[in-house]
Amino acid sequence: MNHKPEYDCVIIGGGPAGATAATILAQHSRSVMVLEQSSFPRPHIGESLMPQTYWTFKRLGMIEKLEASDFPRKESVQFVSTSGKDSQPFYFTDRDSSPCSTTWQVERDAFDRMMLDNAIEKGAQVREGVRVKEVLFDDAKAVGVRIAIGAGVEDIFAKVIVDASGMNSVLAKQLKMRRPDPAFKNAAIYAYYKGAYRDEGRNSGATIIIHMPKRDGWFWYIPLCNDVTSIGVVAPPSYLCTGRGHDPLATLDEEIAKCPGVLRRLEKAERVTKGFVTTDFSYRADKMAGDGWVLIGDAFGFMDPVYSSGIMLALKSGELAADAIHQGLEQQDLSAKQLGCFEPELLHGMSMIRQLVEAFYNRDFSFGKFMKEFPQHRDHLVRILIGDVFNNEVAQMFDTMRQWITLPQPSDLQTGTENT
Ligand SMILES: Cc1cc2nc3c(=O)[nH]c(=O)nc-3n(C[C@H](O)[C@H](O)[C@H](O)COP(=O)(O)OP(=O)(O)OC[C@H]3O[C@@H](n4cnc5c(N)ncnc54)[C@H](O)[C@@H]3O)c2cc1C
Repeated sequence: MNHKPEYDCVIIGGGPAGATAATILAQHSRSVMVLEQSSFPRPHIGESLMPQTYWTFKRLGMIEKLEASDFPRKESVQFVSTSGKDSQPFYFTDRDSSPCSTTWQVERDAFDRMMLDNAIEKGAQVREGVRVKEVLFDDAKAVGVRIAIGAGVEDIFAKVIVDASGMNSVLAKQLKMRRPDPAFKNAAIYAYYKGAYRDEGRNSGATIIIHMPKRDGWFWYIPLCNDVTSIGVVAPPSYLCTGRGHDPLATLDEEIAKCPGVLRRLEKAERVTKGFVTTDFSYRADKMAGDGWVLIGDAFGFMDPVYSSGIMLALKSGELAADAIHQGLEQQDLSAKQLGCFEPELLHGMSMIRQLVEAFYNRDFSFGKFMKEFPQHRDHLVRILIGDVFNNEVAQMFDTMRQWITLPQPSDLQTGTENT
């Protein structure tokens, strides 16, 4: 196959992961082409950020743009119990008052446009409305992509192919290595409301996580700009979908009516969109990298929405992958080992979040009781909620939790890249 590379890197997908990797590669003076199937702006779920995204935003040159935006500031996370009782908010600034301790609640159409424009500004090339059909290989090495152009196709060759196609997981599906996550099986129904209740002052931008009364599932409550609030219910599909009819809004309304913590916040609210449904969103690929290719963001895997970790992990993986690619290009080493050299760090962070997600869904576990008995772990919990998970210090909280409940060991959560 004649596959003279036109670019150092082709990136499939221009969401937060793809835009991050593209920006950093362009900052390293690498030639990079992003292929995005939609024409932005396009709607997307996933609005609440974690404060540790600050460091990647700073590197991308995004902080000033976010500060100039209308996105509400998020300073805390608050939980509401099954009985409707509000917990004391977990304020991020309690442990560090610097700007990196607060973040934003973003409207994804505007946010993703900003991220992609920033990548273009820094030197990346972007083609919108271009769908990648498959990744092209020469033996086991990825060498390019095939895109759909009208009724025909076009091949584009590059030294490295990054898959940032989100839940479409173009390459993991092509290589038949995308597996459902055995630990989490949930669905979500969500809609947007105007005029929903807002706390005052520093609580006004908080994400609120509201347990359903019988702990069948939970609600997210995310304040956005223009007085819009994103509200969604998450529960197993067997509860939320099976035998519930075809109207997701009817199901959402039924669940809201059963949940006083949501109902009282919606007394003066009006729904301003249709209902959206998403299922089967917890999965992971067997490997993060191969010869000439890397998976980042949701294209590698997505766990669960409860702690709003998706964009933080998309940004972090985009950043680490871009540095690994740049280094590989310098050293003329585009092997799986080089391109996936960041995997242990990323998996460690993911495993910290994962253990907290498992605790959240464990019916025998109560964060309230745990915090009362072990107040020394409050700081560890806040650090994980911030996204400060790429270190060993927060892990000690899980050693204590294991006295109460079974949690996976970080070593159970490795992938096969290092064996490639
Ligand atoms: C119910 C739910 C709630 C969530 N809430 C949150 C939250 O509050 N906070 C948070 O941080 N995360 C949340 N997430 C997760 C978050 O949405 C994702 O983790 C995040 O969007 C991942 O970014 P990404 O760039 O990897 O993928 P995406 O943002 O999905 O971007 C992928 C891009 O690739 C493009 N693409 C796909 N296929 C192709 C193709 N074949 N060719 C070309 N382009 C293609 C798509 O059009 C898209 O623009 C939530 C997820 C779910 C399911």
